Amino acid sequence: MNGLLFDMGQSIGIDLGTATVLVYIKNKGVVLHEPSVVAMDTETNEVVAIGKEARKMLGRTPENIVAIRPLREGVIADYATTEKMLKHFLNKACGHKRIFKPKVMVCIPSGVTGVEERAVREAALQAGAREAHLIEEPLAAAIGAGIDISKPEGNMLVDIGGGTTDIAVLSLGGTVYSKSIRIGGDKFDEAILKYLRRDHNLLIGESTAEAIKISIGTAYPEGTERMVAEVRGRDLVTGLPKILEVDSDMLYGAMKKPLDTIVRSVRETFEKTPPELISDILEKSIIMTGGGALLRGLDIRLTEEMKVPFFIADNAISCVARGTGKALDMLDKIGNNSKVKRAY
Ligand code: ADP
Ligand code: MG
Repeated sequence: MNGLLFDMGQSIGIDLGTATVLVYIKNKGVVLHEPSVVAMDTETNEVVAIGKEARKMLGRTPENIVAIRPLREGVIADYATTEKMLKHFLNKACGHKRIFKPKVMVCIPSGVTGVEERAVREAALQAGAREAHLIEEPLAAAIGAGIDISKPEGNMLVDIGGGTTDIAVLSLGGTVYSKSIRIGGDKFDEAILKYLRRDHNLLIGESTAEAIKISIGTAYPEGTERMVAEVRGRDLVTGLPKILEVDSDMLYGAMKKPLDTIVRSVRETFEKTPPELISDILEKSIIMTGGGALLRGLDIRLTEEMKVPFFIADNAISCVARGTGKALDMLDKIGNNSKVKRAY
């Protein structure tokens, strides 16, 4: 009976990503998976749509409506909108009629500062949380990937999201070394968009760039099959619609710069890792999470360049959300991590 009383109210993990928000509820799994996009009416300053519905509006809005990604660069560009988004998703995921207030753990991008952390916690509490905690992305990713982070053993993780890439070495429930760069899947999309405009006079939107990246893009043309796709856009010279055939080699060329930066950052992290932990990491392989980790050939490329096995976590996109939720049951084990704070 005591156990029951103790467990009243849900334990909820929220991955507040730069591209995607996921909500995980203990014993239910991932119950919400939506883009972190908010559509606003600039005249009335009111929210028009949030999530999937708002994403459809990106690049397609009339003048008075803007679709924005409030966490795009890994920092909270717009407090009020982020707060509205968080509350909306929390309510959508667990319903308005809650008898017991849930315990909530939010995973925030590493670029988020102290003041912003406070704002996120406040928003979770205002949305009806009984307790609100925060966790760093790599730690949540490790827990989600099933790693026992409480042991004195080194684990290395690379999480590639939309706006940021987080690389971290963890041991004993804390971060030994970590690095966060503002390069992720969005930079690949931008690079593809620029390449098609510059080299082929073809104007496309961001969503189209992302779609071709996902369907035929590669980070390692030597090790992946060549693929082709037709892209529709507008010819910048004639102003007319144009269809262009692109292949994976072209996309690789376009994405090379941001890709090289990610590889270089992984190498730097490895160089800064204490030797004892290196030997642990070599035994286990490096875990990749986040949507960007799914770019074709990226795992092979990293494995080839670093001479260390890289491994994409199962459910790489929902890994952080699951880890965030599970972390609520392990507050004692991750106590030495500075970002996990009790709110009240
Ligand atoms: P965040 O945690 O920052 O919200 P996600 O982990 O959801 O980000 O990853 C989003 C990024 O992953 C986007 O740039 C998206 O285009 C990219 N992505 C998702 N699936 C794939 C795929 N199969 N191949 C390449 N990139 C992908
Ligand atoms: Mg993420």
